[in-house]
Amino acid sequence: MLELKELILGFFKSLKCDVEDKGEFFIIKNIPEKVEKFLDLTSPAKLYFIKENYSGEGYLIDETSNVFKKIKDYLKNSPSKTLLKIDFDLPNNIKDKIRLRNCSLDKIEKKNENNYFSRFSFITTLMALNKTDHISNEIFVHEGKIVNGDLSSYQVSEGDIKEASTEHLEADYLVARENLKVLLKDKISEFGVDLGIKLKKEIERINIHYNHILEEFEANKDSLLKRINAAGLNNDIEKIKKLKEMLELSFSEKEEKKIKNERDIISGNERSKYSLNIDHKLINTTVIYYPIFKIQVTLSEAGFSKNFELVYNPLTEELSQIKCDSCKTQLDQINVCRGGHICCSSCLHLCNECGKRYCRLCFAGICNNCGKLVCNNCARKCSDCGSLNCKNCMRKIGKTGLEKCSNCIVYCSSCSAITDKKQLVRTSDGRMICRDCSSKIKHAIH
Ligand SMILES: [Zn+2]
Ligand SMILES: [Zn+2]
Ligand SMILES: [Zn+2]
Ligand SMILES: [Zn+2]
Ligand SMILES: [Zn+2]
Ligand SMILES: [Zn+2]
Repeated sequence: MLELKELILGFFKSLKCDVEDKGEFFIIKNIPEKVEKFLDLTSPAKLYFIKENYSGEGYLIDETSNVFKKIKDYLKNSPSKTLLKIDFDLPNNIKDKIRLRNCSLDKIEKKNENNYFSRFSFITTLMALNKTDHISNEIFVHEGKIVNGDLSSYQVSEGDIKEASTEHLEADYLVARENLKVLLKDKISEFGVDLGIKLKKEIERINIHYNHILEEFEANKDSLLKRINAAGLNNDIEKIKKLKEMLELSFSEKEEKKIKNERDIISGNERSKYSLNIDHKLINTTVIYYPIFKIQVTLSEAGFSKNFELVYNPLTEELSQIKCDSCKTQLDQINVCRGGHICCSSCLHLCNECGKRYCRLCFAGICNNCGKLVCNNCARKCSDCGSLNCKNCMRKIGKTGLEKCSNCIVYCSSCSAITDKKQLVRTSDGRMICRDCSSKIKHAIH
């Protein structure tokens, strides 16, 4: 239910009147002359909303007061539109909210975007018999959903039409209208039950009355028919003719229908008298907006930097969730991986080879030879056996410069040079030597 006070004060504010809160009462200044006349009050006007505070001077505003009734009439004819902005600034301690672990915050840049609420104020009038009831409702819609709204704890100022969009209003209005029906369901059926009982009683009374008339009609018709019969037996033609004329005049089917029609018309009238008239009036639409901060964050770690964007919603005081690029868990502390990822502490590891910190995504695996955990940069694959090795465990073969893993090379037993296992040559005395040494031996023999 809409606070009457807020509705009234909002009304004056929307007319650009000065509204001063004096604690026990409000002073309204600069009321347009036209409105003054319409409301029958003079500015500056002292408005009281609490009966106990009312001194007798000024105006006490409640559901039954003249000022309220007139404002309602005024608004019914021209629903007001209000644009409000909730003032927020990026909190100074925003840096504390971004908890960094292995990196430092280089730069913060903020961009604004707006988030919107719509507030619709309705007055519903229920009318039946001599009873009238006014119900006021205030409905907040945010992103197409009904939300609980209360602006009282926020710093609110007049919005700027250049800043705000009203695109969402139409869709929000439909949502609010649907919700209004739900809100009023109980009230309407409560109102309706009472009427239904009364109507039922009335219809019963009408039916009893007309049944009685119809019974009488039937009885009189019967006795007339009996008299016609008797006259027939006596062959009294003159009498028969007279009686038949009487029958035609007063007891024809048409006459019976007349009675039934009368009954139906009276019942119908009662039904419409007891029917419930519902009238919804939109009296105010408010677009409420507040800034959403997009923060460009630059993190740096050992000369390496990484940019990313965070969104801070000052209303919920929530910073956008950041997930570990690797394991996807929500981060409470941010680490920067040298491969350009954001990750959690358990996904960040030191490469045993280069000594830089990388996330799981950037690790190639464990060296087949020495068992070191190595990053993608430091890992090599042996072209012979396909095993993963750290770059330290790979061996350069002779003059070719080709690298192979330690399993795929041997040291020449003659010159001790690193040699590809596949390229070894067996000497006549059974030793395994490199091709160079082998050809030297051949030369020496020849
Ligand atoms: Zn992780
Ligand atoms: Zn490495
Ligand atoms: Zn990474
Ligand atoms: Zn290794
Ligand atoms: Zn190998
Ligand atoms: Zn050799």
